Amino acid sequence: MLSKKFDGDDIRRLHRMIKDATRIVLTCHVRPDGDAIGSTLGLAHLFNSIGKKASVVTPDIPPRSLSFLPDSKEIVAYTKYPDFARRLIKDADLIVCCDFNKLSRLDSLDALIKEAECEKVLIDHHQFPDCFTDITFSCPEMSSTCELAFRLVCEIGMYQDLSVDAATCLATGLITDTRNFSVNCSDPEVYVVLIKLLEKGVDKPKIVREALEVKSLDCLRLQVYALNDKLEIFDRHRAAIITLDKEELRRFNYQKGDTEGLVNIPLTVEGISYCVLMREDEDCIKVSARSINSFPVSKICEDLYGGGGHIMAAGGEFKGTLEDCRKMLVEAMPSYDEFIRTNTARDNH
Ligand code: 5GP
Ligand code: MN
Repeated sequence: MLSKKFDGDDIRRLHRMIKDATRIVLTCHVRPDGDAIGSTLGLAHLFNSIGKKASVVTPDIPPRSLSFLPDSKEIVAYTKYPDFARRLIKDADLIVCCDFNKLSRLDSLDALIKEAECEKVLIDHHQFPDCFTDITFSCPEMSSTCELAFRLVCEIGMYQDLSVDAATCLATGLITDTRNFSVNCSDPEVYVVLIKLLEKGVDKPKIVREALEVKSLDCLRLQVYALNDKLEIFDRHRAAIITLDKEELRRFNYQKGDTEGLVNIPLTVEGISYCVLMREDEDCIKVSARSINSFPVSKICEDLYGGGGHIMAAGGEFKGTLEDCRKMLVEAMPSYDEFIRTNTARDNH
């Protein structure tokens, strides 16, 4: 059994909003991941199966690794179909915001969502959400927005309406945000959520393979190159940095999503507490950080790159050169040494 997590009034209000709505838009953060697409597309499946007209509108196109999700082709990326996205948002009578905590995470979609006059709901698991919706469901202690969305579905009494397609999408966010149940999954109820999704007929091995493992040969070679030639280790600070510039990305025919998972790999090196990947994108340097032992990479991303995220998985954007982005972190590293906790058996010897 799942314990109740939400205020009864909020649940009744959400239920009423869904019942009253005809056209629902679901949206998520820029550069969407498995949790962002899983939660929006999963809820869209649910709403469509109860007779609503639900559409997923994303700021930009989702990575190829998520194209196996049922109806992923129906996703309307604002960068690709700006007029269609604008019309869907304008005509919506409910907007559900998933997996982000401030409007700026919507990139150029932010003004459209902000100015939309319909009711809005936030469903998210990042810390400290801004107040930009009529109801906020914010649970940073949860593994994923998909877990949160699933619990909401149960509490409003719609579990029986979840199809295998909806459950597949929700399970994908659960699986990607927990890295197949290796992080953010110490709450035993995470496994209850998984069981209830499996009972809908979800094919977990397929999700793990498609969302976390399968990659193009170019992508594999880019990652091998990054680890072999571009990984820098800062022993004193237990840190690792990987930088990838435009030319290097071009050399390996970089496609959106090709660096997914890369930032985790240096954490397998003994003694490394955190890793920061810096990638030269069209408009900025995209920073992506991961850590172990609660080392606060969210603080680094906030302090240095105006970003944020979770304590052990965070990101940001840097406007400037890749070299300056790297230098900024290298110079700041000593100030984060105080957060290094070495609590493995080996470190105690
Ligand atoms: P990723 O490294 O996979 O892009 O993101 C890891 C985590 O950090 C996610 O929870 C994501 O929402 C958050 N994050 C990534 N980039 C940014 C950013 O530019 N700003 C903020 N506030 N959070 C970010
Ligand atoms: Mn998430």
